[in-house]
Amino acid sequence: MKKTALITGISGQDGAYLAQLLIKKNYRVIGTDRRSARFSNWRLRRLGIENEIIFEEMELSELYEVQRVFNKYKFDEVYHLAAQSFVKTSFSSPINTSNITGLGTLRILETIRAVNPKIKFYQASSSEMFGDVLNKVQNEKTPLNPQSPYAISKVFSHFITQNYRASYNIFAVSGILFNHESPLRGEEFVTRKIVIGFLKILNNESKFLELGNLYAKRDWGYAKEYVEAMYKMLQQKLPDDYVISTGKTYSIKQFINFTTDYLGMKTKWVGTGIKEKLINKKNNQIIVKINPKYFRPSEVNLLKGNSTKARKKLNWYPKTNLKKLIKIMVDEEIKHYDKY
Ligand code: NDP
Ligand code: GDP
Repeated sequence: MKKTALITGISGQDGAYLAQLLIKKNYRVIGTDRRSARFSNWRLRRLGIENEIIFEEMELSELYEVQRVFNKYKFDEVYHLAAQSFVKTSFSSPINTSNITGLGTLRILETIRAVNPKIKFYQASSSEMFGDVLNKVQNEKTPLNPQSPYAISKVFSHFITQNYRASYNIFAVSGILFNHESPLRGEEFVTRKIVIGFLKILNNESKFLELGNLYAKRDWGYAKEYVEAMYKMLQQKLPDDYVISTGKTYSIKQFINFTTDYLGMKTKWVGTGIKEKLINKKNNQIIVKINPKYFRPSEVNLLKGNSTKARKKLNWYPKTNLKKLIKIMVDEEIKHYDKY
């Protein structure tokens, strides 16, 4: 018998890679996002799986819509990935973010409790929950200290998932995933913004790239590998929470340096603070400037995960280091460059 999985947020980066993985494993995949009439399906098209998914519209702010989808299909597994997922937007849209990224999870859990508590549930928790970190390296036991409406909404979802597991014996797990990137990453996130930014400069389509805080550090992994961990969490005997990370951390500035190196650009940093700039040595043009509009009201300065538990119990290991990830992102972006 084919298993049936629901992926909320199918149009996003992780939704696309997870759908690809589950289809390979012979699942029937139902995918939802908020407006199927004009699904932004470029990621699924790029992976060549658009026609293998059954699409349903499911706006997460409406309990009725969630119930409708759960009454229509018999799900074995639910991967709840849909969220207002951009930290910066959560400061300008805190109420919508709480409603979708926080309460949206509860709407799904309540529906599972009512419709079929045997459904296995995956919650997309985030390293952002560690926020202003209380340990230098973060694992499942590190206290949470969120710094944005996004992270606070994820903390709510994280704890309500644990609560439904404890209270109703639902197989509900949280994957605490550190930042993961790919050629399918949203263009507003810093890694893909940098990759696209430099390609536009090299193509004479723009002169410079504007960024915010260059000194924040992130533990960046490859999204395609991270969705495998999600799947593995739902195949365990017992539900549990896992940190998924590489254990290495780099600043935005290091990410930029690795990217310009890979692109063969000779550059130098000059100035400090908001006057800091990156210069292209070939023509002395400024190619990176700081624009304070990209600073966040409250920043997460350092994320570095310890995924020992996942390595031991899930037999999951990150395989792609940051330089290799940048190569994958740049090469793929060049392949599809005609769209710019
Ligand atoms: P994306 O931003 O790429 O995808 C988010 C998805 O959620 C999209 O399909 C989006 O649909 C959907 N969505 C947004 N708002 C709503 C709504 N109101 N109702 C229904 N669907 C909605 O995120 P990723 O794929 O990168 O991440 C997947 C999940 O993992 C998210 O929950 C994210 O917060 C979390 N996460 C991600 C990390 C990362 O580094 N990528 C790290 C840790 C956690 P639409 O196309 O309509 O916008
Ligand atoms: P996040 O970790 O989920 O917030 O992922 P992002 O990719 O959005 O941001 C990662 C880090 O890059 C944060 O510390 C941002 O402050 C920093 N950053 C610096 N400049 C920019 C920028 O122009 N855009 C974004 N998105 N982030 C930036």
